[in-house]
Amino acid sequence: MTAVTPPNAPLREHFVLPAGRIYLNGNSLGPLPKLARERLHRVIDAEWGQHIVSGWNQAGWVDLPQRVGNKLGALIGAARGQVVVCDSTSVNILKLLHAALSWHPQRRVLLLEEQAFPTDNYMAQGLRQLRPDLELRPLPGSQIAAALDDSVAAVLVSHINYRSGERLDLPSIQAQATNQGIPIVWDLAHSAGAVPLDLDSWGVDYAVGCGYKFLNGGPGAPAFAYVAQRHQAQLQPLLSGWFGHARPFAFEPDYQPAADINRLQVGTPPILSMSALDAALDVFASQSIHQLWQQSCALFERLLQALEADPVFDECELLTPRAPEARGSQLSLHHPEAYAICRALAADDVIADYREPGILRLGLAPAYLRADDVDQAAALLLRILREQRWRDPAFQTRLKVT
Ligand SMILES: *Cc1c(COP(=O)(O)O)cnc(C)c1O
Repeated sequence: MTAVTPPNAPLREHFVLPAGRIYLNGNSLGPLPKLARERLHRVIDAEWGQHIVSGWNQAGWVDLPQRVGNKLGALIGAARGQVVVCDSTSVNILKLLHAALSWHPQRRVLLLEEQAFPTDNYMAQGLRQLRPDLELRPLPGSQIAAALDDSVAAVLVSHINYRSGERLDLPSIQAQATNQGIPIVWDLAHSAGAVPLDLDSWGVDYAVGCGYKFLNGGPGAPAFAYVAQRHQAQLQPLLSGWFGHARPFAFEPDYQPAADINRLQVGTPPILSMSALDAALDVFASQSIHQLWQQSCALFERLLQALEADPVFDECELLTPRAPEARGSQLSLHHPEAYAICRALAADDVIADYREPGILRLGLAPAYLRADDVDQAAALLLRILREQRWRDPAFQTRLKVT
């Protein structure tokens, strides 16, 4: 089979990429965009430094959550006024799950994904303090569509699974749920900035996602929440903080939610992180997400072909579906020594990550990865397997963050 040649990382010059290192971890924490670095310097020196408190008005800080939300919305197929950037993905899950559960207060079943990113299901477990009658029902992602019936109050599920990279057929599951009047909260942590999304035309009700993964907003960047326009007026915020009030600076004694998506805000927004994310999103302005996805597909196929060409690769089990429509922008492998293999890769400047149990994740962010990067990563991984370099005791001890 001939090797697939990806076009050459069209947005690469926008990023600060440490020399000599191949970064296959943009699915966990995206690298620093130069625009974000410049913006942070400006926000710190000119805005915080000079304006201090008047920055809220003069530098427009107060409008950032919605302004950045609208910019992000353009990348995920959401018309203006439906996305707000705030809090963490975990917190936004709680807010939107609570909203979704208000549709059918008499129903008890909350469908979850068995292999979900743990925080998603932890948040659902916490919500049981308000709804002790809720029955949490975790299922394999592939069985969710078949489990939709009139006992189901709501669904929380990831579009792309963080471990395997498997992608669910969002439009068809959403259409079925809409037909049955069941709300779904989609977790788009591994989708936003990686694969084309069309939330409005797919009829999505609620969605959340991360700012720091494929969107490159920086460590701890705020997350986003999407609520379709048609559901906003009925949404009674569980976390009724002053930034979601209709008139935060009237300092009224009683809560009244903002008329729009701003009602999902809770407290004072983190302006430094929000500004970095705002600038990071500008990196995507010159390239369509469809083009980036094509690039990602070419990287995936090239990497997999290089790996499969060597029989030692039979030690690994490919967890990610090969078909582009069935996966996200990562390649996940199972190997009993995956943790030590990941450390051995890092020792030679190929940065991937490890997830329990025994999973090596190779993130394929198309904005900055080149054909040559995946070639070198494949060659190194094969060398580590062939020479069993993972046996080195230095690679066997666990670090705090994997
Ligand atoms: C990364 C990730 C999160 C992280 O949530 P935070 O609250 O931002 O820490 C949540 N869900 C999924 C599916 C993720 O991949």
